[in-house]
Amino acid sequence: MRFLSLFSVTEKISILAHTAESFSHAMAERLGKGRVHASLVYQEFFRLGRLTAASPAFKNAQGIRAAILENVDVSLLSLGEKKEEGKTGKFLAKTHDGLEVEFVQIPMQSGGTLCISSQVGCRMGCAFCETGKMGLLRHLTTEEIVSQVYLARHHNQFSFRNLVFMGMGEPLDNYEAVMQAVRVFNDSKGFGFGRRRMTISTSGCVEGIDKLANQGGQAPNLAVSINAPSDELRNRLMPVNRQYDLKTLYEAMHRYCAKTGRQILIAYVLLRGQNDQMEHAVQLAEYLKGLNVKINLIPYNPQSRDRFQAPEVKTIEAFTQCLRQHGYYTLLRLTKGQDIMAACGQLGNLKLRKQLFENQRDSLITLPANSC
Ligand code: SF4
Repeated sequence: MRFLSLFSVTEKISILAHTAESFSHAMAERLGKGRVHASLVYQEFFRLGRLTAASPAFKNAQGIRAAILENVDVSLLSLGEKKEEGKTGKFLAKTHDGLEVEFVQIPMQSGGTLCISSQVGCRMGCAFCETGKMGLLRHLTTEEIVSQVYLARHHNQFSFRNLVFMGMGEPLDNYEAVMQAVRVFNDSKGFGFGRRRMTISTSGCVEGIDKLANQGGQAPNLAVSINAPSDELRNRLMPVNRQYDLKTLYEAMHRYCAKTGRQILIAYVLLRGQNDQMEHAVQLAEYLKGLNVKINLIPYNPQSRDRFQAPEVKTIEAFTQCLRQHGYYTLLRLTKGQDIMAACGQLGNLKLRKQLFENQRDSLITLPANSC
């Protein structure tokens, strides 16, 4: 299959931006016929990862097949450098205008997880985040988001059960493109990915959370990065809090839980001396009261010349115990030394993402009893 640049084929119909139904409809409008055959091309493309010239479904319809192929755009991001860490792989992929995004493949015993990006850079400006330092270069289009999954599945042959928007960017800041990608992923004639297997991670964009909530049982899962239990601290660490303070965020999370019946994953990055003290654990426990949540603690992994430091092991243990004693299901994974982890689940940091999902997999650490 030949992959053309997105730029040069804008007049064609991008298969990656469509569900089977909308693709078939658009193609039939273009050609004046071919709805059923367009749907077959769609299935072939997403399920097999290729378009075969000799498909039996087209035995007596080679003309319409040729017309569909002439009008379809199957451009993908170009796959670039791969960085491996154990079995986890981070892949760079280039857009038609030369920007780089990344996606991460995390194999797990219980089925792999694929972590994808929704923007190039991010404008939310979280103080501890490498991606945030870039600012927002641009939103990714639906086809660029879907392309990451297509490359992982069909080029890298990566098998995964969970799909998470925790790569570069704030997904709810690019809501329409992300939600169209969710519809494409969910299409039973394409990837057929269940909505409960998809997680949107946010720094706390309340309008977006409400839009998700309004989808009710059709909503994908939600993860929210809290990282500070008071407005004063959160304003400093996460500027989004100046727009949507903790009370407003709490109310939105409450609406999401009520309307969808889902549990929210709360991500909390532990930064030494900033938000990792017992008073913060108690405040966090108080703040989350009444919400259906589980908590994922992520000890920060400093970069070189970083102004934030990793928390001490005893602090991590005490923080975890405190939350558990308050009745929260709290996930934490430590590896030898402090060579793990960084910041929230959305960063451009491979170790962090790997840890975040390993947390959820199976390896909860049994910590000694410790009172708050
Ligand atoms: S932590 Fe997430 S929301 Fe915050 S700046 Fe980084 S990518 Fe954006």
